[in-house]
Amino acid sequence: MSAQLIDGKAFAEGLRKKVGTIAASFEVAAGRKAGLAVVLVGEDPASQVYVRSKHKATVDSGMKSFEHRLPADTDEATLLALVDQLNNDPAVDGILCQLPLPGHLDEQTVISAISPDKDVDGFHIINAGRLSVGQEGFVPCTPLGCLMLLKDRLGDLSGLEAVVVGRSNIVGKPMAQLLTDANATVTIAHSRTKDLPDVVRRADIVVAAVGRPEMVKGDWIKPGATVIDVGINRLDPEPGKDKGRLVGDVDFTSAREVAGAITPVPGGVGPMTIAVLLRNALVAAHRNEGLAVPADL
Ligand code: NDP
Repeated sequence: MSAQLIDGKAFAEGLRKKVGTIAASFEVAAGRKAGLAVVLVGEDPASQVYVRSKHKATVDSGMKSFEHRLPADTDEATLLALVDQLNNDPAVDGILCQLPLPGHLDEQTVISAISPDKDVDGFHIINAGRLSVGQEGFVPCTPLGCLMLLKDRLGDLSGLEAVVVGRSNIVGKPMAQLLTDANATVTIAHSRTKDLPDVVRRADIVVAAVGRPEMVKGDWIKPGATVIDVGINRLDPEPGKDKGRLVGDVDFTSAREVAGAITPVPGGVGPMTIAVLLRNALVAAHRNEGLAVPADL
């Protein structure tokens, strides 16, 4: 039997619509639009595409977008001065600095300079700490989006066995924390994990965030499990094509035969990331204005 598809694109559209409605009420209550500032240093083509999409999505949601594009040779002091200016600008509720930064800039220094209360990417060490001890803060967008998809599909996650493959600070670790907070029993697997297929076979929920094309095979999946594929990998182009196919970290064709539900790539986790970013920016705006954050946001 073939797994049900988890339609992240449709879910993300619904979330964006909700953000749009709440952003309009925010504007009435606060007398200004919620504002998101995006800083891009250099000309990395993928980053340019992301920044353009974030700008458009922000404006489409009825929020104000502040875009700051700096040349690749910008020095640290200039970048930190811009972050400081944005930290102190009351029209800016959320700040994100598009990664990766050019090699001469230290990402941790720059992220640490962003006010934790405007750190809508949730990468600041204070927000990682808040997540870890269960305090209100900002959670990285991709894992929060995965949790939303899982709760939408499964409802209560209490007591379910979850295996997160990958332990990065931006996906794997916060994902494991969110699943733990949702009362799942969580295992974090990584490149040193022994017998990875056997570990994954225990899971009612598999989250793959590895960065290796189609690594998780169908025969690693427990029948009926829910599979969330965070991976975005572009394969080499087939002869006669200029672009290779996008695939996830899960071998979709074989996993689909065994899983109960699975996210496709593209159209699964990917669209959730920007939708959750907008959501986080709107949450920041409510907090900055001392307004209650709507419960359904
Ligand atoms: P990282 O490279 O930072 O982390 C990868 C993790 O996978 C590491 O913890 C690593 O283990 C683990 N790993 C690598 N090889 C293996 C292996 N053979 N077996 C088991 N574990 C392994 O990646 P990210 O977390 O940043 O991203 C993961 C994937 O998610 C990528 O494909 C990325 O493109 C995608 N992504 C998608 C987003 C979206 O919007 N949908 C957003 C962010 C990322 P170790 O720690 O031991 O080295």
